[in-house]
Amino acid sequence: MGKPIFLKNYMEKFVWGYLDEVLSKYPEICQCDVCKHDIVAIALNNLLPKYVVREQGELYSKINSLDTQYRIDVITALTRAIMIVKDHPRH
Ligand SMILES: [Zn+2]
Repeated sequence: MGKPIFLKNYMEKFVWGYLDEVLSKYPEICQCDVCKHDIVAIALNNLLPKYVVREQGELYSKINSLDTQYRIDVITALTRAIMIVKDHPRH
């Protein structure tokens, strides 16, 4: 048997990776776990997923080259999501 193979959506990693950077520009909005997950969910729903096939234990070496390409899209989607959660907080 080979190593387990699974699908990974890179966009999830990008969005979580940029979340704190974008949030730091909006110190007035709630930054609890619930709101952070809401923001990430909304942002991901507005971005095209970027699925790749991975093997367990494989290094994520391709991420950096993709990073710059999607940076603007991710930051834009996060900023919009923050505005939505700010206007309609769940709690
Ligand atoms: Zn909150």
